[in-house]
Amino acid sequence: MTHADFDTDSLIRSFPLASVIVGPGERIIAANEPAHRLFGEDSVGRHYITALRQPALLDAIEAIYRGAERKVTQYLGRETDRDTRYEVTVAALTINGNRGVMLTFVDQTAIEDAEKMRRDFVANVSHELKTPLTAMMGFLETLRGPAKDDAKARERFLSIMESEAERMSSLVDDLLSLSKVEENERIRPMETVNVIGLADSTIRAMEPVATAANVELVPKFRTEHLILQADERQLQQVMSNLVENAIKYGASGGVVELSVSDVEYVPQLRARGISIEVRDYGEGIAEHHIPRLTERFYRIDTHRSREVGGTGLGLAIVKHIVNRHRGRLRVTSRLGEGTAFTIILPVD
Ligand code: ADP
Repeated sequence: MTHADFDTDSLIRSFPLASVIVGPGERIIAANEPAHRLFGEDSVGRHYITALRQPALLDAIEAIYRGAERKVTQYLGRETDRDTRYEVTVAALTINGNRGVMLTFVDQTAIEDAEKMRRDFVANVSHELKTPLTAMMGFLETLRGPAKDDAKARERFLSIMESEAERMSSLVDDLLSLSKVEENERIRPMETVNVIGLADSTIRAMEPVATAANVELVPKFRTEHLILQADERQLQQVMSNLVENAIKYGASGGVVELSVSDVEYVPQLRARGISIEVRDYGEGIAEHHIPRLTERFYRIDTHRSREVGGTGLGLAIVKHIVNRHRGRLRVTSRLGEGTAFTIILPVD
């Protein structure tokens, strides 16, 4: 091993990015640990064509050998559990007076995924707003034209337009809540909240909605006081979102229970905790939907959610609030038997 070889090797090992050096003889002479994960441990010593394979990469290396100083290209990786995308800088390197090539790989996957999520989110929001807007514009036109002198039709159209406007308004409210929760996610909640009192006022506030849906709201509190350091408004929002969902989607069970209790020790949180559970006896949720429920705009039945005034954001908001309180959300459900949303919050 020459002095230069030794230096290349130790230098490349200290790089946090996947890096590969192809020597003057067109063979790989050094690769670090992150590069091993991409090309296998046996890539060192092999000709770069057989080790690196992807045409864009090979073209770039060839260009360097022909005299180019630097090329930037893409590499698509397939690692054990995910597909990855790298931006690769391919640059000339002088090794013992001869031309070699250095490749460094920057993982772009997370950035691109975040970009895609942002694009999807904007597309979803636009679509959600567009639907009621289109309906409203249609009715406006009808009111101006064919239904101009028809008082009965006018009343009916105005009431539909009102509910479409309400839908847009609750979507905007939920979007604002979501962005506020996200903004505060790293700020620790500092208010002293009596969770039982809050649960009690949630029940009172939701009573009219429950009655209208023929649902009995049943409080199950073992004590009168359970104190938690929390954000009162957010905790209230969690409870009302869950109770409202239980009434909207689980009304066929006739009963919705809201339980609050303290938990001596929660293993996942390594702390004492408070459990808040909303249980309904309605139709339940098929298992494959459960992991996706807290995604923004994920609904089991979009039509039905819209019909009951849903925005598809309620559980996403719940998840963010629970995260901010360093808690856990668990959903258990059986088709035909009902659903329980359980939140466990740590008590310091
Ligand atoms: P939405 O505004 O549509 O209610 P959420 O985020 O609150 O949005 O809920 C997402 C979806 O989860 C709902 O559209 C519904 O399909 C399902 N869901 C939520 N709660 C329940 C429940 N208690 N029983 C059955 N399905 C539920």
